[in-house]
Amino acid sequence: MFVKAPTDIVSLDNILPEEPLLMMGAGPVPIPARVAAANSIVINHLGDTMSQIIEQVKSMSRYVFQTESRHILGVAGPGSAAMEMAVVNLVAPGDTVLSICNGFFSHRLSEMAERTEAKVIRFEVEDGFCADVEQVAQLIAQHKPKVLTIVQGETSNTVYNRHLPAICKLAKAHDCLVITDAVCTLSTMPLAMDEWGVDAVITGGQKGLSSIPGVSLVAFSEQAWSLIESRKDTLRHWCLDARLADQFWYKKSYHYTAPVSGILAMHEALRLICSETLQGRFERHERCSLALQGAIEALGMSLYVEPDSRLNSVVGINVPNGTTGPEILALMSAKHRVEISGSFGPNIIRIGQMGEQCRTHHLFRTVHALGSSVKELGVNVDLPAGVAELEKRLQK
Ligand SMILES: *Cc1c(COP(=O)(O)O)cnc(C)c1O
Repeated sequence: MFVKAPTDIVSLDNILPEEPLLMMGAGPVPIPARVAAANSIVINHLGDTMSQIIEQVKSMSRYVFQTESRHILGVAGPGSAAMEMAVVNLVAPGDTVLSICNGFFSHRLSEMAERTEAKVIRFEVEDGFCADVEQVAQLIAQHKPKVLTIVQGETSNTVYNRHLPAICKLAKAHDCLVITDAVCTLSTMPLAMDEWGVDAVITGGQKGLSSIPGVSLVAFSEQAWSLIESRKDTLRHWCLDARLADQFWYKKSYHYTAPVSGILAMHEALRLICSETLQGRFERHERCSLALQGAIEALGMSLYVEPDSRLNSVVGINVPNGTTGPEILALMSAKHRVEISGSFGPNIIRIGQMGEQCRTHHLFRTVHALGSSVKELGVNVDLPAGVAELEKRLQK
């Protein structure tokens, strides 16, 4: 007996909305047309064309990560696979790891370290705040960790670890390697891998870089790479083994069939970043995000995180009394075709400001959709004031 083909399947045309929703949540983000076009192409993963593309991806990545490192690897997988690749290659069973925990993703890094059977010290930072340098210094001195994990921008609760450069410096002084998750922040705000002394920088495709989900990058420093090369034990992860991945990324040989379309998409996303320049891109993100934050406050709503720890790449907004996050999200999608995010913990909604989300026309549509929806749900907000503030701040 064969298993019968299902008879109730409809084509994607019947499922997808006629006009795509504007993706203004915490990722994935809208992708440029060039990225989408590249993503529709399949080529030989080991041919000369691919190797030329790989060379360019690595060279553009060095600029975007601000590193001279020759150990930037692509990963077929989500940002989490890149996180896991950084952790399992640098952390061996029995090692001491200090995990700065101030959100959902930093806890994920600590859990990954724990699964490699490391001894994990968690520094639980109060929700809504960035990690304090003095406290980190004490913990490093006390525990002498081999590796420290930290998230530059916590997408989950919109906290920005502003003191990352100082924390890296401290870690270096104690010969401790630093793994930094920059999934939502890379190319949206400064991260100088070499200058700050970060040993592994992780990014995904679908957030800061404005590419597709499912293809990620991780950059290792020279020091991190020497450690990887000196390991005598066999990694339990085959796909995520950096030495095996090196075969494809640097030696034109076979590890697994690379996600060619996604790498082509990444190529285009990186090329657009290089032509915009990091400086131009950082300025665009800052201007757009601050204008959005100002507009939200002018509406009469409040932001979750205080300015000192506030992330610009994702903006967290307190859910006003009298309504709920899911109600606001549902109305914004159904009526205004704008999608934003809820949260995994605090009672907030989140608007992304990553890559293509930072465009003025998207901001006007989003502020209107938010203000108008919240108003319809019975909350007293001043929509004209919000839109006027947005315009005023964008003019600056
Ligand atoms: C989204 C995100 C991740 C995880 O990326 P996935 O592609 O969902 O695995 C990790 N860290 C941060 C900061 C993120 O924003």
